[in-house]
Amino acid sequence: MSCVFCQIVDGELPSDILYQDDTVLAFRDVHPQTPVHLLIIPRKHISSLNQLADAEVSLVGHMATVGIKLAKKEGIFEKGYRLVVNCGQEGGQAVPHLHMHLLGGRGLAGRLG
Ligand code: AMP
Repeated sequence: MSCVFCQIVDGELPSDILYQDDTVLAFRDVHPQTPVHLLIIPRKHISSLNQLADAEVSLVGHMATVGIKLAKKEGIFEKGYRLVVNCGQEGGQAVPHLHMHLLGGRGLAGRLG
């Protein structure tokens, strides 16, 4: 049984996909914490930042670049937004497939946990 985000990558689970290319895709979070809450994930199953190989570090830069482009599309680029990667249990990671949250659409200053 593949992980929930692998199922989205494989088209086995429906999701609101906003962007995809050869290496990543982005879709709306099913339980949004902010008016804009998107997830950017690699197509490849990488469990977390801790499993990211040195050769794959550029993938995180690409995920961030996609996040910035989507921030523009979602109209939060100018006012500001947050790109977050949770890692591991105490880092708040629930889904064991590397993902970056794009959060915005309301003030987030002072809230980090
Ligand atoms: P994290 O706590 O960093 O692992 O975040 C996982 C995120 O994935 C949460 O914000 C969930 O709401 C979101 N999520 C879980 N399953 C789905 C799904 N099938 N489609 C979209 N978002 C999901």
